[in-house]
Amino acid sequence: MYGKEIERILVSKEQIAARVKELGAQITKDYEGEPVTLVCTLRGASIFFADLVREIRGDVEIDFIACSSYGAGTTSSGEVILAKDLSSPITGRNIIVVEDIIDTGITLTYLKRLLLARQPKSVKICTILDKPSRRKVELKGDYVGFEIENEYVVGYGLDYNQKFRNLPDVCVLSRDVYGG
Ligand code: 5GP
Repeated sequence: MYGKEIERILVSKEQIAARVKELGAQITKDYEGEPVTLVCTLRGASIFFADLVREIRGDVEIDFIACSSYGAGTTSSGEVILAKDLSSPITGRNIIVVEDIIDTGITLTYLKRLLLARQPKSVKICTILDKPSRRKVELKGDYVGFEIENEYVVGYGLDYNQKFRNLPDVCVLSRDVYGG
């Protein structure tokens, strides 16, 4: 179905849709009667974010932020850059940061610290994918879609050099592509 750059499908679009429904229901329940701002981390989480927000009922606002610890390729530089800040203040608000994947944990540790300095009511993390074996700093997702092994994945918003974000499934990238 995909070209030779894709080794295999790791999480199918059907599995993703079912899990996103569950995450949305859980968040709806946890924030009943409480307003919440969902923060999308650009660009990787954009597809997951659009699906997730529509599975959450209640008083929801959305905002966008962009930071990155990755240069080109598949290894982290360890340096985080804030490329785009939120559009609205978050003081006193419940925040859920929506991420595509937690890898080393460096990006979200930076982001959480940045947001907490603005004195929100709470900050939680929701990620569709988690690679716990790769963690360099201690960080846990509050809502996790799927735990995966240490493989470089693309699709469902995740890229390799800005490509493959449009694949509907989460796929393992062939090592021939990045020479891993
Ligand atoms: P961390 O700071 O946790 O190491 O990195 C998080 C970011 O690294 C993610 O938001 C994502 O952009 C990138 N990343 C980590 N693992 C993968 C992966 O397997 N595939 C892709 N496409 N990006 C990844």
